[in-house]
Amino acid sequence: MNDTPPGGFTCKTCGGHKLNVTRVWKILAGPDSESWQEWGPLEADHHWRFKFKEKVEAENDWEGDDEVQRWDFAEYTKNNSSSKPEEYEIFEPESNPGNDRFYVNCANCDREIEFGWSQPNRGGLIFPVECSDFIPGEIWPEPRYLDSWHQKHWLRKADNQP
Ligand SMILES: [Zn+2]
Repeated sequence: MNDTPPGGFTCKTCGGHKLNVTRVWKILAGPDSESWQEWGPLEADHHWRFKFKEKVEAENDWEGDDEVQRWDFAEYTKNNSSSKPEEYEIFEPESNPGNDRFYVNCANCDREIEFGWSQPNRGGLIFPVECSDFIPGEIWPEPRYLDSWHQKHWLRKADNQP
């Protein structure tokens, strides 16, 4: 039963079935800051275990790129649908506790896979969108994918928030 973990994932690029979860976080160390990451496999039941941990040497602007893209996209939507309420902004206050970043990648080809959480505020289990048991509208998006999921109409309705 569990020989295609997790959730029936098959990478459309390389055909792999395994996924890795990575968490990246920043530590303020005096005037400098350090980035660390830990990672491990995502299991068939959507739990994950971090098996490795290391300091990230290249302190590139991992806060910068996504922000630029996000704001570009925000301007784009505003220009094209000025009257639509932007309900996805309701997620914003919860998007940066601890400034941690989570990534899900194909364990074989390292392609980044979008994913969400079974509970709000990055709680519960991790559900990559390419798993067969991913159900749009029932999964809470990883904050980095809010814009993308908003575009795909995958976001939960705000009134479903417990
Ligand atoms: Zn792959």
